[in-house]
Amino acid sequence: MAEKLERKFAYWHGIDRTKIPWYPTIDANKCIGCKLCFVSCGRNVFDFDLQKNKAVVKKKFNCLVGCSTCATICPAGAISFPNKEMIQKIEREEKVLARIQKEAKKKKVKMDVERARKEVMNMLSNIKIKLDYEVAGNIYESELFRKIHDEIMRCNIDIVDIYVESPSLKGSWDMKAPSIAKFKVVSTEMEDISDCAKVIDETIEKSGNVLISKR
Ligand code: SF4
Ligand code: SF4
Repeated sequence: MAEKLERKFAYWHGIDRTKIPWYPTIDANKCIGCKLCFVSCGRNVFDFDLQKNKAVVKKKFNCLVGCSTCATICPAGAISFPNKEMIQKIEREEKVLARIQKEAKKKKVKMDVERARKEVMNMLSNIKIKLDYEVAGNIYESELFRKIHDEIMRCNIDIVDIYVESPSLKGSWDMKAPSIAKFKVVSTEMEDISDCAKVIDETIEKSGNVLISKR
């Protein structure tokens, strides 16, 4: 019976994983039943036959293309893999490197966002004072955040954790659609940011938006 693939392992950079014959083969005559491969593989490629005291390959397409860790650590040299040139040939034929550029771009953006979020979280854990704002209106069209940015240049505060919610799909690209913005005004230095908050409140009003809440 064909191996039922786990969804997350079904493709390798867009290529059907079953078209890539990269997986371990165990020489049962050499296997000494140490269970090291069974315990070490993070992708559950192996099972262990207790009666025969041998490791068996159970889910071969779970194997990470290019990985050969189990073969490296097997004390009996019982595990083997195909020649790695087979992978390089598939990479050339399937133009994997072109696909990788898109994946790399996505990964880089995601990493940058995660890094920025971590920095904000660190900052939030050190802040002396914080105000949570909720504002409704034409957030994009009124350039609310640019105006706030320009006005608070002289204040020792920062605005972080910004979410703009659009009630509809159109609202996510139509500059005129109403949205709700949530953000935090924070300061790690100042004990009192009421003067700066006043500047922000006035900017919200002047921009034609409505301050829903400030806590
Ligand atoms: S690591 Fe090698 S010897 Fe140990 S169980 Fe796996 S195949 Fe057998
Ligand atoms: S090569 Fe890596 S992923 Fe594949 S079976 Fe061995 S340890 Fe698991």
